[in-house]
Amino acid sequence: ASSSSTNNSAAKTKIKAPPMVYISGEEMTHYATQLLLQHWIEPHFDTTSWEKYDLSCKSRDDTNDQVLADAVSAGKRIGAIFKEPTITPSAIQVQEMGLKKAWGSPNGAMRRGWNGITISRDTIHIEGVELGYKNRVLFERHAVGGEYGAGWKDVGEGTLLTTYIPSDGSAPFVVDKRDLTDKHNVCVVYHNPYDNIRDLAHIFFTRCLEHKVTPYIVTKKTVFKWQEGFWTTMKKVFDETYKDDFLKAGLLDRSGGELMHLISDAATMQLVRWTDGGFGMAAHNYDGDMLTDEIAQIHRSPGFITSNLVGRSDDGKTLIKEFEASHGTVTDLWNDHLAGKETSLNPLGLVEALLGAMMHAADLKLASKPNDKAVQDMHAYTDNFATTLRQALHNTFRYGQGTRDMCGPTGFTTEDFIAKVAWRLNR
Ligand code: NAD
Repeated sequence: ASSSSTNNSAAKTKIKAPPMVYISGEEMTHYATQLLLQHWIEPHFDTTSWEKYDLSCKSRDDTNDQVLADAVSAGKRIGAIFKEPTITPSAIQVQEMGLKKAWGSPNGAMRRGWNGITISRDTIHIEGVELGYKNRVLFERHAVGGEYGAGWKDVGEGTLLTTYIPSDGSAPFVVDKRDLTDKHNVCVVYHNPYDNIRDLAHIFFTRCLEHKVTPYIVTKKTVFKWQEGFWTTMKKVFDETYKDDFLKAGLLDRSGGELMHLISDAATMQLVRWTDGGFGMAAHNYDGDMLTDEIAQIHRSPGFITSNLVGRSDDGKTLIKEFEASHGTVTDLWNDHLAGKETSLNPLGLVEALLGAMMHAADLKLASKPNDKAVQDMHAYTDNFATTLRQALHNTFRYGQGTRDMCGPTGFTTEDFIAKVAWRLNR
C-alpha cells in the first residue's frame, strides 16, 4: 500500500544534503519544482544547508538586483548550483509587473562570475521509449564571448576604426578599418576569449570517452577565419592526450581515424540525418545556442535535454557547476494552471538538473573530506538515490504514464505524474 510505505520512508532518518545554491524562478516550472521537491526529495534529504536565492522578477526588482550578485557570490563559494528557469522581463512584463526596469538575463552575470567555460547539453534517454535520437548526443557550447558580449551602434556614413591597445605597453595597432558609405549602418565589435579553450577541450573529450561517442568540432572557420584558433587548440589537446584512447575504443571509425571538423551549416544538416546519435559536438557560443535548440526539437521536447554551465573558481582549483533545465518557465501551461485547466509539464530536464547539482555538491564535499565515513555514506546514498529516482521516472514513462509531450492527450497531468513517481519511489 502506497500510503503506509510513504509514511515509513518519511519516518526514517533523512540524509543531510551537503550545501548547494538553490536559485528559484517563477511560473509553471517554479510550481512544478516545488511540488517535486516536496514529494521526491524532501522525504529522503534534509535540505536545510541549501542556500536559497529568489531570482523572480519581483525579488530582483525589490533588491535592485542585489539578489543576483549574492547568488553569484554564493555559487563561487559553494561550487554547486541548481537553477529553476527565470523570466527575463520584456517591456510589456515590466509594465504588467510594475518593475523599475527591464532586468537583463542573469546568465551573463553567472557565466562571468563563475569563469564559465562551457554549457554542456546532453540528450536524456529512457530505455524502451523511442525519442528523437537512439543514442546519446553530447554538446559543448563555449560559455563566453562572441555575439553575446558585442558592443554596437547604429551609425551613418563615416569610417569605423577598431584599435588594439596591448596592456604590456607595446605599440597600439589597427585591427580593422572600414569606410561606411550607406546612410544607415549597424557596427558590431566582439571578441572570443580563448584562454579556456584547453579546459573546454578536456571537459568535452573526457565526457565523449566516458559516454563512448565520437567527437566533432564545429566552426565556420572556412569563412570566419578568426575561428581557426578554436579548432587548432581542440585538435592539439585531442592529439596530445585523447587520440589513442578514442582509437582503442573504436570511436573514430566513423570519422576516418582522426578528430573531425564540421562546418556549422553542415552540422545543422547532420543533426537531422544522424538520428542514431552516438556523437558529440563542441562549438562557439552562438553556434552552440542554435544547434542545441535544433537537437532539442529533434529529440522530441526541450524536457529531454540537460543544461549544465561549467566554470572554475578564481584560484582555478575547483569546477563550479550550475545545473538547469534547457527550457523556460513554460508560461502557456502556467496560464492554463491559473485558469484552473489541467496541465502536463515534463519535469525530466528539471529533475536531471536537481540530481546533477546534488551529486556535484556531494562530490565537492567528498573531495574536501575523503576519509570521513559519514561523508562517504552521504555520497553513496545520493548516488544510489539518483539511480532509484531515475528508475521510478523512467518506468512511469515506460508504462505509458508519462506527460503529454511524450504520451499525447492520454498522458498524466503535472500533479498526477509527480504523485505516480513518488509512489514508485517510496514503495
Ligand atoms: P519555454 O521553454 O518555457 O516554452 C516553449 C514551449 O515548449 C511552450 O509551448 C511550452 O509549453 C513547451 N515546453 C517547454 N518545456 C516543457 C516541458 N518541460 N514540458 C512540457 N512542455 C514544455 O519558452 P518560452 O515560452 O519561449 O519562454 C517562457 C519564459 O521563460 C520567458 O519569460 C523567458 O524569458 C523564460 N526563459 C527562461 C530561460 C531560463 O531561465 N533558462 C530559458 C528560456 C526562456
